Amino acid sequence: MSQDWDAGRLDSDLEGVAFDTLAVRAGHHRTPEAEHGEPMFFTSSYVFRTAADAAARFAGEVPGNVYSRYTNPTVRAFEERIAALEGAEQAVATATGMAAIMAVVMSFCSAGDHVLVSRSVFGSTISLFEKYFKRFGVEVDYVPLADLSAWDAAIKANTKLLFVESPSNPLAELVDIAALAEIAHAKGAMLVVDNCFCTPALQQPLKLGADMVVHSATKFIDGQGRCMGGVVAGRGEQMKEVVGFLRTAGPTLSPFNAWVFLKGLETLGLRMKAHCANAQALAEWLEQQDGIEKVHYAGLKSHPQHELALRQQRGFGAVVSFEVKGGKEGAWRFIDATRLISITANLGDSKTTITHPSTTSHGRLSPQERESAGIRDSLIRVAVGLEDVADLQADLARGLAAL
Ligand SMILES: *Cc1c(COP(=O)(O)O)cnc(C)c1O
Repeated sequence: MSQDWDAGRLDSDLEGVAFDTLAVRAGHHRTPEAEHGEPMFFTSSYVFRTAADAAARFAGEVPGNVYSRYTNPTVRAFEERIAALEGAEQAVATATGMAAIMAVVMSFCSAGDHVLVSRSVFGSTISLFEKYFKRFGVEVDYVPLADLSAWDAAIKANTKLLFVESPSNPLAELVDIAALAEIAHAKGAMLVVDNCFCTPALQQPLKLGADMVVHSATKFIDGQGRCMGGVVAGRGEQMKEVVGFLRTAGPTLSPFNAWVFLKGLETLGLRMKAHCANAQALAEWLEQQDGIEKVHYAGLKSHPQHELALRQQRGFGAVVSFEVKGGKEGAWRFIDATRLISITANLGDSKTTITHPSTTSHGRLSPQERESAGIRDSLIRVAVGLEDVADLQADLARGLAAL
């Protein structure tokens, strides 16, 4: 079956095509049924023609599916499409974004190894390192994202991985990925980039020199808030390790979710352009309003790393954060006065969301930790969606009026 399934490969026809074409076409292999949509394979296991065929497939001597914890054609189509979009040799799908991060660390780190993590990463990423990996003897230190000399100084002989999110959430800080990759490689460490906020439509870290990319596909890759999933992408020899861990430990992706993500990817380029255009317009407008003290968005000339963002990204993303007058009370009044925008900490959805980081996503940090991370009580984060920008601006104007 798998030989038939692989028979009409489209890969060769996709040499040299543009990103948006890959996003629609890559990973879809024509089957004898010649269906045009990506087929959804809802099966836990696969049948073999003969005992010898089963033995050969189990031994990996012939390609083909054995069990859906190992491989599933729909999941594979998603993996191939992501690999094409990230410019990776291979991609491996996971049950969630957190499972992707876990799989990378479990695949490459042992007790006694050291990992460097940028200070501003996703909250659950910090918990995973602090509560779990440390228990198994992995040393973890945190470095300010943008400070290249701090990264260089923090690398030790046992440093295996540098893990960063760029741009950061919610303050849109960046690190020069190409420069950081050089620093890592000079000392024998690997650079892993969580590319959730940009997606490959806006940033391709592997092309800048990073070793691996992880994603929460739950966010912009789905793009419509429907499914959980994740993915790791990188070189074949590394992905072999990640595949080995996932097959054994089991946090693999459901074929249904993979199918939803395939549909999401078909509009990724269009959606990211629209997210960026809406976010840019709102950021520029917010910057001129009286009640706003500061806007954090890399698309603004006032952003200290605007030049780096222009060089490293093809767009500035959907997340705009800003500080309002009146501290926490002001921020809460602003948020509560909006009517259209959803009050939720989620992002990467066609629906615009608004959140107060210091009492939600960053609420567990101590006041000093929040202060050093730049998460003020007056800070509001908006993950800009795909509604009409005039309606979004009108809703934010309700917030401003309530300050
Ligand atoms: C959401 C998120 C994750 C975790 O992904 P899940 O799919 O929720 O497990 C990891 N990194 C970043 C940057 C995220 O926004």
